[in-house]
Amino acid sequence: MDLKQLSSQLSVSGQIAVSDIAQIRAAGIKTIICNRPDGESADQPSSEALQQACLAQGIGWFYLPIIPGKINVHQSNQFKALMLAQEGAVLAFCRTGMRSTSLWAMSEVAEQGLDRVIGQAAGIDYDLTGLRQKLQQQVLAEQAADLAPSHDVLIIGGGAAGQAVASSLLRRKSNLDIAIVEPSAKHYYQPGWTMVGGGVFEADSTEREMAQVIPANVRWHQSSVVEFSPQQQTVSLHDGQQLHYQVLIVACGLHLDWQATPGLQEALGQYGVTSNYRFDLAPYTWQLIKQRAQQKAIFTQPAMPIKCAGAPQKAMYLACSHWREEGLLERSNVEFCTPGDVLFGVADYVPALMEYIKRYEISLQLRHNLVGVDGPNQVATFSVSDGRGAAELVEKEFTMLHVCPVQRAPDSIRNSALCDSAGWVDVDPSSLRHKQYPYIFALGDVANTGNAKTAAAVRKQAPVVAQNVISTLAGRPLQAAYNGYGSCPLTVEHGKIVLAEFCYGGQLDPSFPAWLFDGRKPTKLAWALKEKLLPWLYWNGMLKGREWLAAPELVKGGDK
Ligand code: FAD
Repeated sequence: MDLKQLSSQLSVSGQIAVSDIAQIRAAGIKTIICNRPDGESADQPSSEALQQACLAQGIGWFYLPIIPGKINVHQSNQFKALMLAQEGAVLAFCRTGMRSTSLWAMSEVAEQGLDRVIGQAAGIDYDLTGLRQKLQQQVLAEQAADLAPSHDVLIIGGGAAGQAVASSLLRRKSNLDIAIVEPSAKHYYQPGWTMVGGGVFEADSTEREMAQVIPANVRWHQSSVVEFSPQQQTVSLHDGQQLHYQVLIVACGLHLDWQATPGLQEALGQYGVTSNYRFDLAPYTWQLIKQRAQQKAIFTQPAMPIKCAGAPQKAMYLACSHWREEGLLERSNVEFCTPGDVLFGVADYVPALMEYIKRYEISLQLRHNLVGVDGPNQVATFSVSDGRGAAELVEKEFTMLHVCPVQRAPDSIRNSALCDSAGWVDVDPSSLRHKQYPYIFALGDVANTGNAKTAAAVRKQAPVVAQNVISTLAGRPLQAAYNGYGSCPLTVEHGKIVLAEFCYGGQLDPSFPAWLFDGRKPTKLAWALKEKLLPWLYWNGMLKGREWLAAPELVKGGDK
């Protein structure tokens, strides 16, 4: 074992053995960084064995494996952050010490200069001249990033998730430099749109000025992100600006693809074609419901995932409830068309919903996917699958058509290095940290977690992300875990709701004890919750960082 001192804090060496650890400790080393991937050679001790030995000696251990010749900027950023987070002497090793030295050089070159890092490495017999071009590129990239305004935490999207996580962060650390990138001048309480379409809320009650919602002390960049450069820790905005960050939180929601269904965009807002998925159209839904001449009403749902998977049905039940109260239901013919094989994804709630399908005499059309709308002639076209791979086109006439549009990840995400194969931000479902970039988190509708995409999910995710971001900035292990909670208040009739609450795997996860109410049955209490309490909780609790019934679960071994 030959420890070579590269800087006042860092020494490097070739491969170490388990039996060397005691001697390394005696040399004053407090932390070891392993840069050699496991299994490179037969005589190499495993990182697991070395880690155990370090633990036994009270030495910190980090595994940051580098494949020879493949060092990238992201790894040098990780190395730099690791070094910054350590207080005492550090040893980094690989097979010969060359990769550890190169990693150090990449992380230091912008600050110290090319000749100095190459000279320092040469002083302990590592020749970095072959790395000169890569080091020069690193200097240029860091200079460009330095010119960009920088924030401790940059949040993309000022919707439910962006605002909630900003407030939760400030509750934990009030002096954080946080910025939100958000193009819209208005913020919307989207869960209220079902109630607008059902004639319960006024549309105005769901809209506020963005400037009033963004927490004080948070900087607002009123633009949208067009490009993510995770290696440089920067984003590019539509207005040409570039922003740098220590930690990025992606919360830009999902894209409602009205154009995906030919004829839909042009028909919306007229010919009886409407959708509660748009602020300006939800009042038109109520207008159509109130018109007493409904003969043929069709409610559609697209393929999953969609936000609030119950919303297409909620619109329908409220319409039927109104027509029933007015004695018009017998004269109405109502259909629910969904491409799925089931009415609702969590089986426990299906019996209660089926009761209402029967009560309202709704014709349930499974495996029906809306593929075209002819507004002027009031005809909707569906692709109807037989479940065995074959499909046929079927036309249906309507007097009212409520459409839930096709939904997908935003283009800025789909075209970035952040997404999974389906286009959503690829995060760990528990910590909500990006699987590849440790300084990036995501929450809300844009994340690829398997929960119901709802504001209720955001309420539980925001504290988890806030807690884990604070740990990341402090160089500590992540501690907060999200269990996949989501909720869908199914407005089955005016005055009653089936309150679906579940987490990952469709497990029921009720917020209230069974004696208060059973979420699988329609109750007046759940309606009161949706009508009175939830909007108030949204504006005054969740968006203000008050984590009522949403304190994050802490994983064992994490910091408190
Ligand atoms: P959003 O709130 O949609 O916010 C995303 C933000 O990102 C937007 O402000 C957008 O302008 C911004 N943005 C987009 N692209 C960019 C970019 N490139 N750069 C910067 N900013 C960008 N949830 C429930 O819990 N209960 C319900 O009963 C319920 N009912 C619903 C009914 C309807 C009709 C709808 C439409 C939704 C409903 N939801 C419900 C779902 C809930 O509203 C969403 O899940 C929630 O708003 C998701 O929050 P988010 O921040 O991820 O996305």
